[in-house]
Amino acid sequence: MPTLFISDLHLSASRPQIIDLFLRFLQGPARDADQLYILGDLFDYWVGDEMLQSDDHANLGAALRRLTDSGVSLYIAHGNRDFLLGQNFTQTTGSTLLEETTVIDLYGTPALIMHGDSLCIGDVEHQAWRRQVLSSQWQQEFLAQSLDKRIDIAKSLRQQSEENKQHKAIEIMDASQQAIEDTMRQHKVKLLIHGHTHRPGRHRFELDGEPVRRIVLGDWYQQGSVLVCTNDDWELIELGLLD
Ligand code: MN
Repeated sequence: MPTLFISDLHLSASRPQIIDLFLRFLQGPARDADQLYILGDLFDYWVGDEMLQSDDHANLGAALRRLTDSGVSLYIAHGNRDFLLGQNFTQTTGSTLLEETTVIDLYGTPALIMHGDSLCIGDVEHQAWRRQVLSSQWQQEFLAQSLDKRIDIAKSLRQQSEENKQHKAIEIMDASQQAIEDTMRQHKVKLLIHGHTHRPGRHRFELDGEPVRRIVLGDWYQQGSVLVCTNDDWELIELGLLD
């Protein structure tokens, strides 16, 4: 039974066809997996676990619960959009929250898995924002505000970030090779799997004289991007939208 990796679904009521695709994925391919890893940005924004109470999110939460009840292990990493996914969410869905970086045993190969935005060190602005929102003081103050206020803030932050992106070179928003190598060295791995950059691909290079690999997951905008790993093979597949 395979291990599946996905990220950057950016689920949002504004893209109902992607929610449908994800629900079909949960009832189909995901059921045949041993483990499903969601490496961040499952949601377009997540401002607190009270969001589970809305109809759309309750529905998604129940679908994830059906998956874990069926025996599939579900692991979720925070992305830069949904870093406030908390204990209520994991309890409701029966999932396990991952640390920012985690090394797993992938059929005998140690694999470092992470969302990936911390690798984009060229984007100084994003890294400064990241340090701010990951501080417990910022999170406490943010969560103390009303849900409506938090949603307003998340929407305006998202809009601001879209506008900023227009002025940033693509290289700045990609993972830095230096950060990739430092992080892989630090965790002593030859395989890195991450998302965030929306640039699906497989990269082979040498690190300290050894061949190593980096697999980048794709987003769920025009299709669903899934990394399927089995004992002897792995492939990045695309799930098509229904017409
Ligand atoms: Mn991201």
